Amino acid sequence: MKIVRCTSCHRVNHVFSASNAKCLFCEESFSNLTPPAPLFDIPYLFLNEKIGEIDGLISSGKRDGVTLRTLSRLFDEVLEWQPQISSVFWRRFLVSVGCKTDQEVINKGVLIEGNAAYEAAFRHGNEDEKEAYGLLVKVRARIIRLLEAELIKSEKSKKIGTDAEKKLADFKNQLANEERQVLEDIKKLKGIERTIREQEMDCSSIAGEYKHALDKTLQEAKHIWRSPQNEISYEDKTNWESQLDALQRVSNAEFEKLKQLESSHHAFADYSRLVDEQKAVCAEINSRKGNLDRLKTSIEQIVSTIKDITDEYNSVREAICAGDFSKAERVLSNTRFEALVKQALREVK
Ligand SMILES: [Zn+2]
Repeated sequence: MKIVRCTSCHRVNHVFSASNAKCLFCEESFSNLTPPAPLFDIPYLFLNEKIGEIDGLISSGKRDGVTLRTLSRLFDEVLEWQPQISSVFWRRFLVSVGCKTDQEVINKGVLIEGNAAYEAAFRHGNEDEKEAYGLLVKVRARIIRLLEAELIKSEKSKKIGTDAEKKLADFKNQLANEERQVLEDIKKLKGIERTIREQEMDCSSIAGEYKHALDKTLQEAKHIWRSPQNEISYEDKTNWESQLDALQRVSNAEFEKLKQLESSHHAFADYSRLVDEQKAVCAEINSRKGNLDRLKTSIEQIVSTIKDITDEYNSVREAICAGDFSKAERVLSNTRFEALVKQALREVK
C-alpha cells in the first residue's frame, strides 16, 4: 500500500497494488507505477513480513474469527516495535470496518471519523496521508448530501406512484357527497315523521267516529239486556229480541265499515305509504352509513401505504447515519447509487 498523487486530478490515492491501479477520484490509469517499497528499514525488516501477511489477509476479504484473531496478533506484534506508523493504523481501520480498499470504504458508507484506528492513522500521518484520509471523509459527507437529496425525490415519486393524492381528493369528494345525501335523507325523514303524526291524528278521528257509533250500539244493547226480563210480556220479549238482532246487524255493519276504512280510506292509505317511505329512507341512511364505513377503510389503506413508504425511507436515512449505504443503494437502484458515488468522487477537492 502506498500513497500516489494522480497526475491528472492531482489528488492523493491509496494504491494497494501497482498493477491495474487507477485514480479513485478521476479513474485515470496509473501507468508505470513502481510496486510499494517495503515499509520498514533496518533494524525492523522482520516486520515487513508481518505487513505482507496483514495485506494478504486484508485483500483475501476473509473476516472470520480465526482471521480476525490472526490480524489482531499481527497488528500487536508490529505496533509493539513501531507504534507510530500511520499506514499500519490505516490497515487496522480497514479491518475494523470490514473493507479491503478505500473504494469499499466509500461504497459501504462506513463511519470514518471517530474510529480509533482512523484517528490514530490521521494523528501519525504525513501531509499526503492526512490529505488522503481527509478526502475520504469529505467524499463520504458529499455522498450523504447527494443521497439525501436523491432520497427526497425518490420518496416523493414513490408516494405519488401510489396515487394517494388523487385517492385522497376522491375520498374528500365522496365523503362530502355522502354527508350531503345523509343530511337530505334526515331532512326528508323528519318531514315524513311530521306528516305521519298529522295523519295519525286524522286516522284516529275518522276511526273515532265509527268507534263512537259502535259504542252507542253496544250501550243500547246493554240497556235492553238489563231490563227486568221476568216482568216483561212475551210480546215485549220478542220485540226486544228483534231490537237486539237489529242492533247486532248495525254493529256488524259498522265494524265492517271500520275494517274497510282501514284498507280504502285515503287517510289510512296515505298513512301506510308514509310508513313505507319512512322505512325506505331509514334503509337508505343505513346504506349510506355502509358507504362511509367502506370509504373509511379505503382511506386507512392509503394512509397505511404512505406510512410504510415514510418508514422505509426513514430506515434508509437511519442506516446512512449509522454507516451503512446498502439500504440506500437498494432503494435508489445500484446504477443510480454508483452514479452518485462517482459524482461525489469527481466533485470533492
Ligand atoms: Zn485523479
